[in-house]
Amino acid sequence: MNSDLVACPCCGKLVSANRMELTFRRPDEIAALTDEDRNIRCWYNNDIYVLDDARFFLRCTIPLPIAGLPERYSIGAWAEVNRESFKRIYDLWEDDQQANEPPMKAHLANNIPLTSGSLNCDVNVQLTGPTTRPEIIIIDKECSLHDEQVTGISLHRANEYSGLIR
Ligand SMILES: [Zn+2]
Repeated sequence: MNSDLVACPCCGKLVSANRMELTFRRPDEIAALTDEDRNIRCWYNNDIYVLDDARFFLRCTIPLPIAGLPERYSIGAWAEVNRESFKRIYDLWEDDQQANEPPMKAHLANNIPLTSGSLNCDVNVQLTGPTTRPEIIIIDKECSLHDEQVTGISLHRANEYSGLIR
């Protein structure tokens, strides 16, 4: 773990230079299942979970601009899409033109700590390319991530998210 400190551009607060990004391994509903249930009820790999052949989850990122820095902080999170969208995404999986696909309506499938109203909030999912994760755009203004995505976050806020990594 990198223990170097850097000054936050917005307030000068010293924060860890380590910018490891908060990532959720599974959608919350899947994480709540026992291993046995998960193996019986789910069809999955690193990027997708299908629960009971009826619910479709996709691993995405929630990109947040960082004020004063060129890069973004991306929370690794899951979105639930409908069957039609899932089929379309599956068909386009290797397609290098997939970023041209219009955004798809979805719901956020993780409760992100330090935010309010995140679980099940309305989002769009935008495909970005065959080797990069789809991006979540928060639509629901009641979710506190909406404002953070529109106006950006401070470096020390990014550090708070990273501090949740266990
Ligand atoms: Zn700051």
